[in-house]
Amino acid sequence: TTFDDLAGSELDAAVIAADHARVLHSWSAQAHLPSFVVAGARGCRVWNHAGTSWLDFSSQLVNTNVGHQHPRVVAAIQEQAGVLTTVNPATANLTRARAAEKVLAHLPGTFEKIFFTNAGADANENAIRMARLVTGRDKVVSAYRSYHGNTGAAVVATGDWRRVPNEYARGHVHVFGPYLYRSEFWARTPQEECERALHHLERVVQSEGPDSVAAILLETVPGTAGVLTPPDGYLTGVREIADRYGILLVLDEVMAGFGRTGSWFAFDRHDVVPDLVTFAKGVNSGYVPAGGVAVTGRVAHAFDERVYPGGLTYSGHPLAMAAIVATIEAMEDERIVENAADVGARVIAPALDELARRNPLVGEVRGSGVFWAVELVEDPDTRVPLAPDRVADVRGRCLERGLLPFTSENRVHVVPPCVVTPDEAREGLAILATVLDDVAGERA
Ligand code: PLP
Repeated sequence: TTFDDLAGSELDAAVIAADHARVLHSWSAQAHLPSFVVAGARGCRVWNHAGTSWLDFSSQLVNTNVGHQHPRVVAAIQEQAGVLTTVNPATANLTRARAAEKVLAHLPGTFEKIFFTNAGADANENAIRMARLVTGRDKVVSAYRSYHGNTGAAVVATGDWRRVPNEYARGHVHVFGPYLYRSEFWARTPQEECERALHHLERVVQSEGPDSVAAILLETVPGTAGVLTPPDGYLTGVREIADRYGILLVLDEVMAGFGRTGSWFAFDRHDVVPDLVTFAKGVNSGYVPAGGVAVTGRVAHAFDERVYPGGLTYSGHPLAMAAIVATIEAMEDERIVENAADVGARVIAPALDELARRNPLVGEVRGSGVFWAVELVEDPDTRVPLAPDRVADVRGRCLERGLLPFTSENRVHVVPPCVVTPDEAREGLAILATVLDDVAGERA
């Protein structure tokens, strides 16, 4: 293909044709790929070659927490590229040392070290490996409604359908977590849901044999599964169960971390301190692939004399580390986490609550900061999830009106960058409300 003579919508069409012919896409039937081109982006907006732009209420895959093309992060990557673009991970490096310090500065004092990875999946992979080695136990308990990544063990720790075609790893056990709107426990209050989910978890641990369980691995707030903020007391209860049986608690903050919920880490809001934290996405807004495992002293020092049997060629890659340092500094200096909390509380929460009250398609809204789910139903009484073709219709209408939404199953997730302004949030919420009101009105 020669792209050189093309521009505008002709270039968009040529890019789509070339992409669909030669790129095998994730999680998709290749004959049914969306035709969406992103040529450039800035802040909360993305555009194609024809110049059509969309307000990004997806943060791509919920990762561009500082928005697109943050000048400070772009400059830091460019500067690092001029100094050192790659280095053996066994070598000490200034940028990596600074990145570890920056991440640790936002974690509780019990955290001592960071193991850097390329992304979220390999962060969970290594956290699981560490927990097994430190405890000498094998099993990992995680939640059915979860996503932890698509490498061997991480994908089997995953609770949703992505686990099933990949089930070749060992020792994974799943539980139901709290989700009052679709309670597995016949609960009617958050407190009942919390108590019963904890009872269920403890019974599963006991039945599996507590001495065989290395880790409980949970997303602090399950994200892709529907922004399922746990009720007060759930995570402290999980921590107690872990302690009672000598199990390590791993919290996956890949999606929820770095400002998304309106605090640096989602667990900051839940009065719990885990033993290991996995992160990726927001740590550098995905400008260069990076993730990591933050570990407390007990885990860190287990490998003082004993070899840690894991590693990656690009662990602590200089470009990724430069992006981490600049991202965290920008978040601190520009009060980006505070902005996420503020826009969430003052703009998103009231607008979505109002939408839920008036629109029969909206079964429930939930979230905090810039991490929200709008759960769409056929009927508010039966709570039957909105059919996939109707969700696709909602998605298509949002795109037509200039909003790039994030949809998953029967939900629209409202997940703009943490830098979203109140006006941008209002603009996107107004489009979403118009679309949902139109769809509900046409059905009535
Ligand atoms: N953990 C959570 C909570 C996630 O949301 C994701 C990705 O969406 C992952 C892990 C996997 O991260 P990655 O795609 O960077 O491997």
